[in-house]
Amino acid sequence: MTKIIVQKFGGTSVGSVERIDAVADIIADASKTAKIVVVVSAMAGETNKLVNLAKNFSENPDKREFDALVSTGETVSSALLSLALHSKGIKAKSYSASQISMKTTDTYSKAKILDVNSEKILQVIKEETIPIITGFQGVTEDGDITTLGRGGSDTTAVAIAAQIGAERCDIYTDVDGIYTTDPKIVPNAKKLDSITMEEMLELAGQGAKVMQTRAVEFANKYNVPVRVLSSFNEGSGTLITLEEESMENALISGIAFQKDQVKFTLHGVGDIPGTAFKILGPISDAEVEVDVIVQNVSVDGKTDFTFTVPYEDQETVIKIIDSIKDEVKFKQMMVDSDIAKVSLVGVGMRSQAGVASRAFKALSENEVNIQIICTSEIKLTMVIDKNLTDKAVKILHEEFDLEN
Ligand code: ADP
Ligand code: ASP
Ligand code: MG
Repeated sequence: MTKIIVQKFGGTSVGSVERIDAVADIIADASKTAKIVVVVSAMAGETNKLVNLAKNFSENPDKREFDALVSTGETVSSALLSLALHSKGIKAKSYSASQISMKTTDTYSKAKILDVNSEKILQVIKEETIPIITGFQGVTEDGDITTLGRGGSDTTAVAIAAQIGAERCDIYTDVDGIYTTDPKIVPNAKKLDSITMEEMLELAGQGAKVMQTRAVEFANKYNVPVRVLSSFNEGSGTLITLEEESMENALISGIAFQKDQVKFTLHGVGDIPGTAFKILGPISDAEVEVDVIVQNVSVDGKTDFTFTVPYEDQETVIKIIDSIKDEVKFKQMMVDSDIAKVSLVGVGMRSQAGVASRAFKALSENEVNIQIICTSEIKLTMVIDKNLTDKAVKILHEEFDLEN
């Protein structure tokens, strides 16, 4: 059978009628040599508009209705793209999540994919028709609509590629590929020809929004080759390689940053077994992703316990901490949303020492204070003042000579 390629088009790629027409040409061209399955995002700005519409009635809208609403942007773009293909004489059909049984958990706004009806998709392909599937959307066992979290169309695409055994998943976006850091912040950032899955997992996890983290996790789990490329310019993009080491094997492959974070510190908690679990257990039960976790050396049996969570979960975490305050005794809870995380990522860090001290020196020489440091084998994360994020990223990009 001819190879199958999944093509995913992000919001900017389908941001106008003209863009949708251009994307239809890309699909038409690719369909000459492969069977194509398309996954599409909402037109640029549409999801934000829908989010704001819901906020007219409540700061905390009902979760079920919120997802039913914000998922509709993808319904519009999939049908429009299908029409654009028809106008070029190409057979295409739009499909919503429920039409292809994109089954997810019922954790609204961050639902996780459980299963998808791959036979249905393969049947459409067999009929020489290009399926244009809505990204971002899911459906619960009961048939309620869910969404996969912001940027979730990437995950839809990779999950479908994995399920139907596609040869590759091509993520079309508004940049030419994966860069050493966000090219919108550092204009001389360099495009990478390839990057290892491991590095991409860390970059995405630390905020490089070019791909949703869950999408990279899927690609890693099911060995789906992924390419990130532009729908605006021709080019081979960046291949996320499944091999251990990338061809380039640089010391540092990229820098990611995340500004939408909050730092919680519980000051004066008891340094006794079970404390960390009592604090983080209920937070993780609420599906809140906790990152940088630091517990200090204790003084007189008391210590400080610090962690970061996404800003959108701030209120949830405050409520949880409030509910456990009689059980986990602490002197004070400090909440700081003026922070950001900046992370250096590279498989080369494994074999070469000195990355951390070089980073600390460069930042200190430029008056950037580091509040928390956290490392893993191929990653160094620093929590800093949010206002200094762009400056810190530029300093580090230059220090590690990433533009060359
Ligand atoms: P789409 O709508 O196509 O899904 P996104 O806006 O979600 O596009 O992701 C693409 C954006 O990711 C780029 O425009 C860029 O600003 C940002 N980005 C952040 N880090 C990187 C990186 N390391 N390489 C490339 N782009 C990055
Ligand atoms: N439209 C959704 C968003 O804006 C999903 C996506 O674009 O991937 O987050
Ligand atoms: Mg995206």
